[in-house]
Amino acid sequence: MTASNGAGRVGVLALQGDVREHVRALAELGAAPVEVRTPANLAAVEAMVLPGGESTTMSLLLESSGLLEPLRGRLRDGMPVFGTCAGMILLAADVLDGRPDQHRLGAIDIAVRRNAFGRQVDSFETDLAVAGLDWPFHAVFIRAPVVESVGPGVEVLSSLTGTDGVARPVVCQQGPVLVTAFHPELSHDLRLHETFLARAGTAPMPCQATQEEA
Ligand code: GLN
Repeated sequence: MTASNGAGRVGVLALQGDVREHVRALAELGAAPVEVRTPANLAAVEAMVLPGGESTTMSLLLESSGLLEPLRGRLRDGMPVFGTCAGMILLAADVLDGRPDQHRLGAIDIAVRRNAFGRQVDSFETDLAVAGLDWPFHAVFIRAPVVESVGPGVEVLSSLTGTDGVARPVVCQQGPVLVTAFHPELSHDLRLHETFLARAGTAPMPCQATQEEA
């Protein structure tokens, strides 16, 4: 089944985290959201959202559900994917301050540090200018990861200056992979989901990052 926007069935990784909020945002945009808990669920979708939540827990559950390797395979094949906060951590090539056994999906060539946005390890909200969006996006950061470095193939769509005065990327994309350090699913603003669906509706580009689990 293909939704009217051409994105087809869009999965939301539903092992832990703010699954409902992503499902609602996708449904409001006319996509066909599917909660993905099993390899069979994954096989039925054409794109995926990895939600915010707790990346270490999702990493463990990816393994116990049998989704880890099939998901890696789909990402290698260029499946469009949108990762928010913990989802961004899971998709990153490198994770600093993660659990040693935390899986890296390596779908986007960025290094992230968990729970380290300046000194604000808890929550804050701010309006961000995002490339391609006509007006600022109200972004909700909750124990957000910082992006410490990006590879040459990564496009930075938005950055935020932390309390240390350093501007760091908070929205990045590389081929079919879009990530945010914050939670667009909590903002009642569908523009980043819309951006993702628009890209997912185009022919997927092959995944450029090749780094496997560290
Ligand atoms: N700190 C969480 C982690 O490491 C991410 C927080 C979030 O998704 N709001 O996974």
